[in-house]
Amino acid sequence: NKQVIFRDYVSGFPKETDMEVSTTTVKLKLPEGSNGILVKNLYLSCDPYMRIRMKRIEGPNAFSSFTPASPLPGNAVAKVLDSGHPDFKAGDLVWGPSEWKEYSLITATESLHKIQHTDVPLSYYTGLLGMPGLTAYAGFYEVCSPKKGEYVFISAASGAVGQLVGQFAKMLGCYVVGSAGSKEKVDLLKNKFGFDNAFNYKEEHDLDAALKRYFPEGIDIYFENVGGKTLDAVLLNMRVHGRIAVCGMISQYNLDQPEGVKNLMCLIYKRIHMIGFLVRDYVHLYTKFLDTVLPYIREGKIVYVEDIAEGLESAPAALVGLFSGRNVGKQVVLVAHE
Ligand code: NDP
Repeated sequence: NKQVIFRDYVSGFPKETDMEVSTTTVKLKLPEGSNGILVKNLYLSCDPYMRIRMKRIEGPNAFSSFTPASPLPGNAVAKVLDSGHPDFKAGDLVWGPSEWKEYSLITATESLHKIQHTDVPLSYYTGLLGMPGLTAYAGFYEVCSPKKGEYVFISAASGAVGQLVGQFAKMLGCYVVGSAGSKEKVDLLKNKFGFDNAFNYKEEHDLDAALKRYFPEGIDIYFENVGGKTLDAVLLNMRVHGRIAVCGMISQYNLDQPEGVKNLMCLIYKRIHMIGFLVRDYVHLYTKFLDTVLPYIREGKIVYVEDIAEGLESAPAALVGLFSGRNVGKQVVLVAHE
């Protein structure tokens, strides 16, 4: 059983060598009387929050640290091989919390979802139809209170969450601009996901000026994925009564001391609602989300770009790549075919 071991707490940018691929010869078997399940992992999800869990976290926090010298926990799409749980049987496909291993014993089955619709790519359950998809759906519709015609800005816009937020906003009739870190990603935003406009933030030394160019009348909704300088520039360009959904701040995850934000006073003058949220509080919307999004996928009204790395050995590099923007679209690791 091949596995990816998390070596020790990380500071600064994560490196491939913070993880190690090793093999155990212990034969996995469901223990007698267990109500867990034995699964074969098919696709692993690389998610930015995993970097937060690589830090030593003390005290109450939304996340707990990964355990050094242990296999990495993470979301996956998996096939059930054996089950002691009445809700699962051999052959079922599931997505949810698993491990970066070829095979896993899962005892905490309460957060697993059974996959009912297999006419779409299975890997989508790591992204579009999984945790990032629900994040985009809840974050946009529930947190942003969007209205037709509003001006929407999305950072890390070509990623797992951002590409979907943009498509939801376009479907509602908003004007949508995204930022991303390469020409290839900017082209995707404009030509594949139907954004009205997009720019490469790495080529803009004055983000405030860039935002003024794309939003001469200001921004109603900012879907925040990166934080730092981008947030500061956005605050200067928000409209009165604008909303900022704080989904993530990836530019801060590798810093020991997060950067300060200078322009927070704009929240007062412009009466901006800036709301942080976690997808885990919206799991009750998952069925409604699936019912909404599946038809759009089948009709081609929503498209999704994935970046699939092959083999468990490629998982450490794939995860680390999120922090240099190496991934184009949702970063997935293919471990095994069904
Ligand atoms: P992505 O697929 O967008 O991958 C991460 C991307 O972030 C990279 O490709 C890179 O794109 C960009 N990035 C990396 N470092 C920086 C930086 N220093 N400055 C600006 N951009 C950077 O990830 P996800 O869509 O999965 O996640 C997007 C955000 O949403 C993250 O902040 C994540 O933590 C958050 N999130 C929050 C959830 C919640 O419950 N609140 C749930 C899921 C995700 P580029 O080339 O454009 O720079």
